[in-house]
Amino acid sequence: MFYTATEEEIKEGKTTDVYFDRAVEVIKKKNVDKWVKAEFRAKGLPRNYKWAVLGGVEETLTLLEGKNVNVRILDEGTFFKAYDPVMEIEGMYTDFSVYETALLGFLCEASGITTKSARIRKIADKKTVLSFGARRMHPAIAPMIERAAYIGGCDGFSVTLAGEKMGKRASGTMPHALILVFGDTVEAVKAFDEVIEEGVPRIALIDTYNDEKFEALRVAEALKERLDGVRLDTPSSRRGSMREILKEVRWELDLRGYDYVKLYVSGGLNEEEIKDVMEYADGFGVGTSISNAPTIDFSMDIMEIEGEPVAKKGKKSGSKSLLRCNRCFNSKVVPFSEKTETCSCGGVMEDILKPAIRGGKLLKAHPPVDEIRNYVLEQLKHYDIE
Ligand SMILES: [Zn+2]
Repeated sequence: MFYTATEEEIKEGKTTDVYFDRAVEVIKKKNVDKWVKAEFRAKGLPRNYKWAVLGGVEETLTLLEGKNVNVRILDEGTFFKAYDPVMEIEGMYTDFSVYETALLGFLCEASGITTKSARIRKIADKKTVLSFGARRMHPAIAPMIERAAYIGGCDGFSVTLAGEKMGKRASGTMPHALILVFGDTVEAVKAFDEVIEEGVPRIALIDTYNDEKFEALRVAEALKERLDGVRLDTPSSRRGSMREILKEVRWELDLRGYDYVKLYVSGGLNEEEIKDVMEYADGFGVGTSISNAPTIDFSMDIMEIEGEPVAKKGKKSGSKSLLRCNRCFNSKVVPFSEKTETCSCGGVMEDILKPAIRGGKLLKAHPPVDEIRNYVLEQLKHYDIE
């Protein structure tokens, strides 16, 4: 069997931590259920990031739709900081308490991946970034990983099913296995070019058997202008300096008129390594650092009971608004108010914690992935990595 929960089991609350089940049992038996407001926020961000990007919103709302609750939430892809409320749920406590575990799971993991993807996008600037890391995680969540990575700013992703679910096409180059089966890089690349349909980029993997420089020249000579690029996935034991290898490959290709051949790098890349090779690489295949990105540790806390502000120690009570300037993106947390404020820059600060579900009814359709991704890229212009 596969140790995964079905959509039905998640919707039935079966992925709850057992203590919520027990709390509900006690509250109902003693007839003390209350109308509460609970908020989701992160006390801190991984590795002292200055900002994070909210992911998992569509799945969160899909779970809450039809329940007797009101929900205010940031749009998927919204940048936020530590202590910013990202969602508020209002309802009878026992109507949503068994979903806390699942809701946090949706938000924490997807936000972690989207955030990491956005950080890498910022560093890679206009260069190509592909998400290659689904293989490091359970296959049942591969489409979620790829969607979160794409929303965060990756140009593409590798898993076929993720493409089907998003109405997009998965992308990739070629595996080492293809070269090994043919026994020669050029033979494999020529066969790939003959068999695979036009429109799929011809990107040759050049680190399987021989030196990257000589293999790059061999495939360039064999495919000429049909070659789009070469990929270097050089094992860490042989890397020395990836930057120097790329520099040399670039030089040799350019010298022989193959300046159109792009250089792609993959294998254990994170922010630092991408920075290091930016000058010579045209694109990156990023795996584990995106799919296994540190999660954003949101927690859910009750901050209002029967209309009265209440919170456990260490948490601010009362319903809140997250005001953000529509011009400079400066933001602040204030007690809930439907009023707007004028920012010091002259822009308008308005509440971005917007109603999304009222009485179980979804108030607007989920935006398509490209709209969310564009929203992330627009905000990213206003935020720095350090
Ligand atoms: Zn402003």
